[in-house]
Amino acid sequence: MGKVSLRACDGYDYEGVREGLQKTIDDLGGLRAYIKPGDRILLKANLLMKKTPDKATTTHPVFVKALSDILVDFGARVVIGDSPGGPYNQSALKSVYKGCGYLDLPREDGTIQLNYNTGTLKKSREDLHLLKQLEIIAVMEEVDHVFDVCKLKTHGMTVYTGAVKNMFGTIPGILKAEYHFKMPRITDFTHMLVDVCLNANPTLTFMDAVVGMEGAGPSAGDPVAIGAILASDSPYHLDVVATRLVGIDPMEVPTIERTLERGIVAAGYEDITLVGMKLEDFPKLDIRRPRVGGIGFLENKVPVFLQRPLNRYMNPRPVFDPDRCVLCGDCMRACPPGAITLGKRIPKVDLDLCIRCFCCQELCPHEAVEIYRNPILSKIIRL
Ligand code: SF4
Ligand code: SF4
Repeated sequence: MGKVSLRACDGYDYEGVREGLQKTIDDLGGLRAYIKPGDRILLKANLLMKKTPDKATTTHPVFVKALSDILVDFGARVVIGDSPGGPYNQSALKSVYKGCGYLDLPREDGTIQLNYNTGTLKKSREDLHLLKQLEIIAVMEEVDHVFDVCKLKTHGMTVYTGAVKNMFGTIPGILKAEYHFKMPRITDFTHMLVDVCLNANPTLTFMDAVVGMEGAGPSAGDPVAIGAILASDSPYHLDVVATRLVGIDPMEVPTIERTLERGIVAAGYEDITLVGMKLEDFPKLDIRRPRVGGIGFLENKVPVFLQRPLNRYMNPRPVFDPDRCVLCGDCMRACPPGAITLGKRIPKVDLDLCIRCFCCQELCPHEAVEIYRNPILSKIIRL
């Protein structure tokens, strides 16, 4: 069962966001139903990379501030954190907090802190589908509850990223690239994402869908006004409602497909209780999809014997914009299989090594990476 609250919020003025968040909490039965005064809560924001809030890549700092204040007024203590893309160390964290507008969030009395503990720890989870061993950020084990504080965006590999995928940031730094490398097929990768979310087990999930991202998400797309805040006791059920809010069929999203296959969300979404406002109360949206691809993007779409040759010609691939690229090398360092080398003007990719994870696009700070797909063959085969 999943209870999902949907409320309107049309901008990032503090009072409006706080009021919207409070309504979602009331819809879910109030904080006391989930936590108690004195609890320490990790707000696991989406801090993918150093980007200013207007780019809609990261959870807006006003959203995190308003939620932190509500929790502190309740008597809880808050630590805000994430493991962004790239190395997981204190200077990288500080740079991301600064770039994303989070440096003003902590309070002097210590009731609201930014996480600088870059320790990690290993966990055994025999009960999960794919991941029997995980390495996670240590702050997860220092708190009483994890709250998933995510952002609604499109994603070049998984179509959409929201609540479940946000928990991938509980895997430390560049280990995320290793997971991409070990699980290049979309089915495995999305099973892994669900495993990671099950392990994180967020008590509550809050989604910043005031302004989301469309097009080339999760970092190079365009901001799109959605005007909503969602909250839920289940990140899996929240993702179903969020996708429908922006005109995406939930079954387009492989992560949601996995949750249905595994019985986490009921067939026909019958176990969702929507409270607060209805989907029909919001203007109809059909956000621009990203160009989706991955090693397994032909799975279930063409016969197996055709997949290999078609993959060779059709599989989307990263291309680099020489007008934007500054040859900083971030994409090269983030590339899980080491397929990128720096050329004289732009990076070069060894397509035989490339696993089409699109970390290069995700983590390029200059939005210099596009995903190219053969347009004629794409049309013929209607992918
Ligand atoms: S594509 Fe982006 S990340 Fe890669 S070298 Fe150029 S600017 Fe840096
Ligand atoms: S080149 Fe880009 S898409 Fe290909 S494996 Fe490296 S990071 Fe992933």
